[in-house]
Amino acid sequence: MKDSFDRTIDYVRIAVTDRCNLRCFYCMPAEGIPYEPKAHLLSYEEITRLLKVLGELGFQKVRFTGGEPFLRKDFMKLLENTATLDDFTSIHITSNGTLLQRHIARLKELGITKINLSIDSLDKKRFHKITRRDDFEKVMQTFKLLVNNGFKIKLNAVIMKGINTQDIIPLAELAKDYQVDVRFIEEMPFNGGYKENLEMYSARDIYADLNAHYPNLVKLPSKHGDTASLLAVPGYKGNIGVIAAFSRTFCNTCNRLRISSKGEIKSCLYDDGVFNIRDYMRSGVSDEELADKFREIVRLKPKDGFEAEKLRKAPKKAMQSMSSIGG
Ligand code: SAM
Repeated sequence: MKDSFDRTIDYVRIAVTDRCNLRCFYCMPAEGIPYEPKAHLLSYEEITRLLKVLGELGFQKVRFTGGEPFLRKDFMKLLENTATLDDFTSIHITSNGTLLQRHIARLKELGITKINLSIDSLDKKRFHKITRRDDFEKVMQTFKLLVNNGFKIKLNAVIMKGINTQDIIPLAELAKDYQVDVRFIEEMPFNGGYKENLEMYSARDIYADLNAHYPNLVKLPSKHGDTASLLAVPGYKGNIGVIAAFSRTFCNTCNRLRISSKGEIKSCLYDDGVFNIRDYMRSGVSDEELADKFREIVRLKPKDGFEAEKLRKAPKKAMQSMSSIGG
């Protein structure tokens, strides 16, 4: 499906839960966020129905995220169902890596091997300070197990001024020994409202740090829909990426829609939800009506994240947590 800016939209990100077992301070307050009751969440049957409709419309890639997707009961069942859908040739997961170890063998059997793991520091104390939980070793162990089992891993690190800029090079160095993309992300204001104005450590600052350390850094060509600018250090097994999530320099190649755990569709991360597909589905509409609704949403997709932000109805203060948006 094409939007009105001639972008092919074929990628959907679905949050299966708004709950998380970490409390990353840039994402939510220490006490957590008010979680949705189970009846408000899209059921697995509803998610599978939406995927079938989207598959017919040409969607090929799905990412399950959250909250922490492995916190939701029987998440593996949803993955098993999705693996049977012919249209979705690319199934991805974003996880914090604390709960997935025991599922590695089954994920491999299902051919679900593309996983993004979040890790904002290689220093145990700093990891704890950021996530407010003591799971550093578990996450590192999971990362190594996944790589050794042939999974295609991307590591995501949100880089924040005065917090973890000293982690940029140690994290990038993981690409020396592991075939992994290490991606540095600008902080966004989706933190459940704890802080309105961010003291930005921008993509430009991150590049400067990388260039100072790696004088022979090579820029790689970008792939369809890629939000990361990819870089390579000659001789390293993996790559390094920079995601200008706040500067929003990649909107012209956007290929995605998001669906939150309660069925709110976001045609851009920076809008405040354009339509509730759960309520529409529960009103008894047909698959054809659902498909028409998706066509309309894609047609109205804003040009970029700045335009989407301007169209928001909710005040800036009411910025949601990424955990309920679906990161
Ligand atoms: N629980 C999973 C995880 O930790 O990866 C999936 C959900 S989490 C919301 C997805 C991603 O969003 C993580 O990489 C997290 O670091 C990122 N994220 C959360 N809040 C963010 C913010 N305010 N700015 C930038 N990235 C953020």
